[in-house]
Amino acid sequence: MAQEFNLIDQFFLPLSGSLQAGEVGIGDDGAVMTPPPNHQLVVVTDTMVSGVHFPVTTPADEVAWKAVAVNLSDLAAMGAKPAFISLGLTLPENDQAWLQSFAAGLRDICTRFKVPLIGGDTTKGPLTITVTAHGWVEQGRALLRSSAQAGDMIAVSGCLGDAGLGLKIALKQLNQNQQACLDSEQVSHCLNALNRPQPQIELGRLLQSFSCAAIDISDGLLADLGHILQQSNKHRTFTSSEQPNAAHTELGAEIYLDQLPLSRAMQSWFAQQTEWALPLAAGDDYQLCFSVAQSEWSRLQQLANEQGIKVTVVGRIVESQGVSVKPNSESDEVLSDFSFEGYQHF
Ligand code: ADP
Ligand code: MG
Repeated sequence: MAQEFNLIDQFFLPLSGSLQAGEVGIGDDGAVMTPPPNHQLVVVTDTMVSGVHFPVTTPADEVAWKAVAVNLSDLAAMGAKPAFISLGLTLPENDQAWLQSFAAGLRDICTRFKVPLIGGDTTKGPLTITVTAHGWVEQGRALLRSSAQAGDMIAVSGCLGDAGLGLKIALKQLNQNQQACLDSEQVSHCLNALNRPQPQIELGRLLQSFSCAAIDISDGLLADLGHILQQSNKHRTFTSSEQPNAAHTELGAEIYLDQLPLSRAMQSWFAQQTEWALPLAAGDDYQLCFSVAQSEWSRLQQLANEQGIKVTVVGRIVESQGVSVKPNSESDEVLSDFSFEGYQHF
């Protein structure tokens, strides 16, 4: 027991950061935080299990970074400002070197996004990290999955598939020819994409002032875009002038292969083999996928670019069922050999 409290005091108490007067962080039965006026609280939780969500060989500092980053990415997709996090940590043993490195990774990301660690729970068992992140969003302004409309453009931030390629590298699945097509900078770029994803907070804040539907890409573009469609269909309403007929009651999407943003590393990989599953269906990129009205796209793109954020149109929302992958926007050809399912735990 004493060890458990030593561990918390040594590694986690220093991350409780500067709280406002009257707020309470680590050390009591619960944390006490003050909501800013006219804001709503956004709460997200993600669990990472060793060997399921990250290879068992992943360095502890990167495990910590990723456990927090995937949660901040959910806040980004809601358009929220990150406020604070709590940490449920299950450890197989009290390994000081591992904890030291884990705490360093935690400190990196908490400092980068200015989120204090305000509490948690520490238990013994198979290595499992559960982070709950809390964020604030202006009253009624949260970004939702359900706002997509027919005719909207579909866009993504950054590049797609790099984390999926990083996973192949981390799991040593590359043959000699494949290894030869990536230089060391490209290898570390992909490993970084896998282990140190960058939550798109600034973009989420920007999208909030447009009528966008948004999701973060954790399970692959096609699967996550499917979630936008599902929610948008569920909440779809028609004005009286739009008498829906049977053929026009579903929102679907088209994705154009020639528009997918591919990094230098992915382009080198494609020079060896064209593997669309990576940018379309591999998980872990934590970029945002969002819909936006055609009339708003150029202003949105300009504002994003001014902040150094890369955004790319990859398709559009259409009135037809499901997601169709096409070679380009002019083509009538629908390519059928893609898996639309993300990773399924059960
Ligand atoms: P209780 O028994 O009242 O639930 P604990 O003994 O579990 O409290 O925790 C003591 C304090 O340490 C609490 O304030 C809790 O939030 C904090 N804490 C425990 N584990 C962690 C952790 N992994 N990260 C951050 N804070 C933690
Ligand atoms: Mg208690």
